Amino acid sequence: MGTNILAIAGGVGGAKLALGLSRLLGPGELTVVVNTGDDETFHGLHVSPDLDTVMYALAGMTNPETGWGIRGDTFRTLEALGRLGAETWFRLGDIDLATHVRRTELLRAGRSLSEATRELTAHLGIAHAVVPASDDPVRTIALTGEGDLSFQDYFVRRGCEPRITGVRFDGAEAARPSPAFAEALESADAIVFCPSNPVVSIGPVLAVGGVREAIERFGGPRVAVSPIVGGQALRGPAAKMMAELGEEVSCAGVARRYVGVCDALVIDTVDAAEAPSIEALGMRVLVTPTVMRTDDDKDALAREVVGFVETWRAEPERASRRG
Ligand code: GDP
Ligand code: CA
Repeated sequence: MGTNILAIAGGVGGAKLALGLSRLLGPGELTVVVNTGDDETFHGLHVSPDLDTVMYALAGMTNPETGWGIRGDTFRTLEALGRLGAETWFRLGDIDLATHVRRTELLRAGRSLSEATRELTAHLGIAHAVVPASDDPVRTIALTGEGDLSFQDYFVRRGCEPRITGVRFDGAEAARPSPAFAEALESADAIVFCPSNPVVSIGPVLAVGGVREAIERFGGPRVAVSPIVGGQALRGPAAKMMAELGEEVSCAGVARRYVGVCDALVIDTVDAAEAPSIEALGMRVLVTPTVMRTDDDKDALAREVVGFVETWRAEPERASRRG
């Protein structure tokens, strides 16, 4: 196919399109860059929830009921940890724990998060590059009326209930993109923002030192898929967070957030009427079904997005975005 895609993803929403892209593109044609702002230490183990979600999706291991975690996993170790007085609000399955044990072991041996992820993905039989946004620690903090909450405290323990006044990405400014991310920013033909939470999944990736500037400079098409469909998030707090931050909860609201880093927004057919207000922001719009319930849906959306990018690149006067 010959188009090299840099895809940026969070967890569940991102993993769905990443899976579709991985089934369409060869291993040399796709780099999936994953948010690490959710990373946290539990029971002494380094957990990277979004990396795990994307890895399990590409390895065909995902629990289909949740979109995260491992199909058929059990929670006996977590129950036993609870009996020993440990906190158990963050759900870690028995098989899932092996990932965190091994990652932590590799990190303690001095390997970078990129190297540890490469090792894990290789052993899970994943042919495509799944890489952290950064090897340096970036930690998302929710600013709430009850004070600053670490991301998992806000998201899982508190179920996103506290009203947010802002978010902060600790460490992001000093962090640098991971080697594979930096390389893809130079060599990819197009950037695809998966339908992930714009505030806390894509936000921390853009906040990594130099990333926003590199994407602003990027020469090829930059396309985002809206995670907001019909004025709502399909799951999770994206709509609630955008509303609390005073942003419009719509595809146009997503587009506004991505002005400067995106040239086009893919929106669902139910949102077709929003196309003119997005085009008024200077972005192209692709209207197509974007709700991915089955693997066929994921394949179809991946084909649409890659086809859109390829047609664009073939336009003689637009071989480069600024051409
Ligand atoms: P998280 O890290 O697990 O919260 O996952 P992401 O940030 O990657 O994705 C969460 C977002 O994905 C939510 O805003 C959802 O609305 C969106 N989402 C989930 N499934 C789909 C889908 O099938 N299509 C679209 N367009 N968005 C989706
Ligand atoms: Ca996440």
